Amino acid sequence: MTVVDQARASTYDLARVRADFPILAREIHGRPLVYLDNAASTQKPRIVAETIAECYGGWYANVERGVHTLSQLATAQRERARETVARFLNARSAEEAVFTRGTTESVNLVAEAWGRRNVGPGDEVLITGLEHHSNLVPWQRLCEERGAQLRVAAIDDAGEVRLDEFERLLSPRTRIAAFAHVSNALGTVNPVREMAAMAHRAGALALVDGAQAVPHMLVDVRDLGCDFYAFSGHKVYGPSGIGVLWGRKEILDAMPPWQSGGGMVQTVRFEKTTYAPPPHRFEAGTPFIEGAAGLAAALDYLTAMGLPAVGAWESELLALATARLAEVPGLRIVGTARRKAAVLSFVMDGIHPHDLGTILDHDGIAIRAGHHCAQPVMERFGVPATARASFGLYNTPEEVEALAAALHKARELFG
Ligand code: PMP
Repeated sequence: MTVVDQARASTYDLARVRADFPILAREIHGRPLVYLDNAASTQKPRIVAETIAECYGGWYANVERGVHTLSQLATAQRERARETVARFLNARSAEEAVFTRGTTESVNLVAEAWGRRNVGPGDEVLITGLEHHSNLVPWQRLCEERGAQLRVAAIDDAGEVRLDEFERLLSPRTRIAAFAHVSNALGTVNPVREMAAMAHRAGALALVDGAQAVPHMLVDVRDLGCDFYAFSGHKVYGPSGIGVLWGRKEILDAMPPWQSGGGMVQTVRFEKTTYAPPPHRFEAGTPFIEGAAGLAAALDYLTAMGLPAVGAWESELLALATARLAEVPGLRIVGTARRKAAVLSFVMDGIHPHDLGTILDHDGIAIRAGHHCAQPVMERFGVPATARASFGLYNTPEEVEALAAALHKARELFG
């Protein structure tokens, strides 16, 4: 069976999935939308919008400390959403799930709250060569501030982290290793369980940036054995502006607060303030109440679809796209790791990725062009930017064919 046959023979209920996403019915420049920018942000199923509308129409109020009914309802909804997140990650308890604005804020929280207390002069932080800027710059700034050293495990020509180097760079000086589960620029799936174990053997903690993993695969933080896991709602079919930092309870318990203000305290006196236990200790200020509910709805939706089925479907799309794009003259795929998820980065001789993005947009095809907030990755591959098609649970083999056809057309026009 060819990959096309395999994709078509799949039992995955694509029509039902697509019907859940109203935006997919719209046209762009008079052509059906082909949305292949899922690694940047995913579209939202109806249930997420309905949940947010229900919040405003039925139970909205500020959370915590309210005695009136709506406030109690809103507080209960938020804590239920936290339980959904905990279940989704197979966390030990909901207290381990901190709501943040997204992956970026989650990493900054750890770098600043945990990092400032635990990383000092002469210490080291280990990252990899494929990190998104949001799992790089916070560590760089921490190291600069604390007189520590940032170490980087290089990636090879396929875009895989060199595990021998990762292990070699770990030492008793390493306080934390921070690495992506899936690379947003290359699609590489890192062996994060193995990497977390290596970090622990060296006495370091392990933080996993899961922004690009949670939409595509089951994540079990206990099985992975990491200490922190971060992800964003908007990449997993939920609202933007909400995300999660999961942290091992005993580590969160020992961490000082990050931002300060209402909601994160126990008692406040001019002489001394005491802080709430996690997760509230790390959630200062009025949170994104409706966002947490929307995120829970998205996670429930994805769970009901079955992440293994979603991941399998996306793998078929990726295999088909890889085969089709390889047929386009002058096209080079950037990132050829053995294990990849849903991301296809490429460059084409004689056509800048940005121009490619514009050309494809005229055919209704949304891809991303740029450095994907991973400039060191671009440098590693000697390109200023790539074009990137990334797949979600609603994409189709026909859309992959449309992408390939548009690239052939661009080749003819500009080649
Ligand atoms: N890490 C990775 C691997 C990402 O792909 C992204 C988003 N492109 C982020 C972190 C940052 O996520 P956010 O912008 O939602 O905070």
